[in-house]
Amino acid sequence: MMQWFGPAAPEYDERRALFNAMIDKRPRLIAACDGPADVKEALERARKERLRVAVRSGGHSVAGQSTNDDGLVVDVRPMKTVEIDASARRARVGGGCTWGEFDAAAQEHGLATTGGRISTTGVSGLTLGGGSGWLERRHGLSCDNLLAVELVTADGREIRADETQHQDLLWASKGGGGNFGVVTALEFGLHPVGPMILGGLMAWPADRGPEVARTFRDWADSAPDELGTGLVVLNGPPEEFIPPHLQGQPLVGVAVCWTGDEATGDDLVKVMRDLTPEIDLVGPMPYAALQSMLDDPPGLRQYWSADYHDTFTDEALEVFLDAGARRPSPLTQHLLLPWGGVLGRIDPESTPLGQRGARWVSHPFATWQDAVDDDANIAWVREYRKANAPFTTGGVYLNFIGDEGDERIRAAFGADKYERLVAIKSEYDPANVFAGNQNIRPRATHLKRRG
Ligand SMILES: Cc1cc2nc3c(=O)[nH]c(=O)nc-3n(C[C@H](O)[C@H](O)[C@H](O)COP(=O)(O)OP(=O)(O)OC[C@H]3O[C@@H](n4cnc5c(N)ncnc54)[C@H](O)[C@@H]3O)c2cc1C
Repeated sequence: MMQWFGPAAPEYDERRALFNAMIDKRPRLIAACDGPADVKEALERARKERLRVAVRSGGHSVAGQSTNDDGLVVDVRPMKTVEIDASARRARVGGGCTWGEFDAAAQEHGLATTGGRISTTGVSGLTLGGGSGWLERRHGLSCDNLLAVELVTADGREIRADETQHQDLLWASKGGGGNFGVVTALEFGLHPVGPMILGGLMAWPADRGPEVARTFRDWADSAPDELGTGLVVLNGPPEEFIPPHLQGQPLVGVAVCWTGDEATGDDLVKVMRDLTPEIDLVGPMPYAALQSMLDDPPGLRQYWSADYHDTFTDEALEVFLDAGARRPSPLTQHLLLPWGGVLGRIDPESTPLGQRGARWVSHPFATWQDAVDDDANIAWVREYRKANAPFTTGGVYLNFIGDEGDERIRAAFGADKYERLVAIKSEYDPANVFAGNQNIRPRATHLKRRG
């Protein structure tokens, strides 16, 4: 049943908060929608009262695109159902589910699909932006496993997009963001995964960085598809599994998610283990536990960016590690993720995403506590991007960046796919009601802006 929350509601502050504490917007109304009929009612009210619309699921948009000031937020979080058809290896997931909820239900059957690396991220927002996760080199991005979406369009139509109907909308939903309607349900193909996999983190003091990073680069670049991994520069958290002398100290770490057979995984991991990590938490563990291993609490301040690379040279690694050593905040993680694997073999036309063959993503992920440190942390991300620019392809994965303007949105898709998205947007949302996202502007809006 539909619930409305305005500024006077006791739950208002909790309802309007996003993961990134830098976002402090005050919508006039939050419509907590429990199905397509509620979404239609909310959109109708926004139209009548001339309110701008934002759509919110997991609330992890780093730029705060899932809320607004003085507008109406369509909050899909009440739509929480997860139905697993184990024999058909399919899942139907409500638009308000998080990856933690989806993984838990699918793992009861030893199944999963590629999902985000943090359990509290929304299935909707992550998948609509592509969906990068530990399983991607074996099973593709989340959107590559998307079989159908059900959405309510700006004019209140309930549409199911799948292989047989509204195929253009299904294609656009595989990376084109929430531009085309409010997604109320998603269907995915599932794969046997775990429930036990070989996973965890190894780490070395940061002064071992160059040796570890080069070995990691060559290891990950030639690894079988069953390996999901990433290099991370971070500070040792104050946890009991971190030796006291490394807590708070800069480290270079390698995350591991191996879903192939155990013996091959052990042999593969040995290559990194031979570098004698001071922290070695890699071992058999439940896939669902790995999926929440990196969870941070909400309420911290965030600013990130990202770029694609075809190769990651020694010089690029030096620039990466140098920036890692200059992180202004001990909470910041500086990430290098290998793509490759099946990602480069999937038909590039099957989704709007550009540069499917890119082999690396660099991802400076600034996290800090106090507003006085905003400038220093934002500058750190921007300076790294500048120093890193000679090594990048010019393409970008939009889920890993905030609001960096139209050029970056175009760069994420490439000219031809961007034009195809504009045509689909112009058909399903000609007035750009859904503008709170990495926005594809419909044709009429282009003309209005130019005029
Ligand atoms: C800590 C953290 C870790 C992350 N890790 C990963 C990762 O491993 N892989 C990865 O690919 N990304 C990752 N991301 C990025 C994340 O995928 C994007 O920020 C994504 O948009 C978040 O989706 P959400 O539903 O949680 O967010 P929201 O803030 O609710 O929404 C984000 C965007 O999606 C739109 N949207 C959300 N739900 C709907 C819907 N039902 N219908 C239409 N539009 C909708 C919103 O309007 C908004 O534009 C991470 C983000 C954070 C904060």
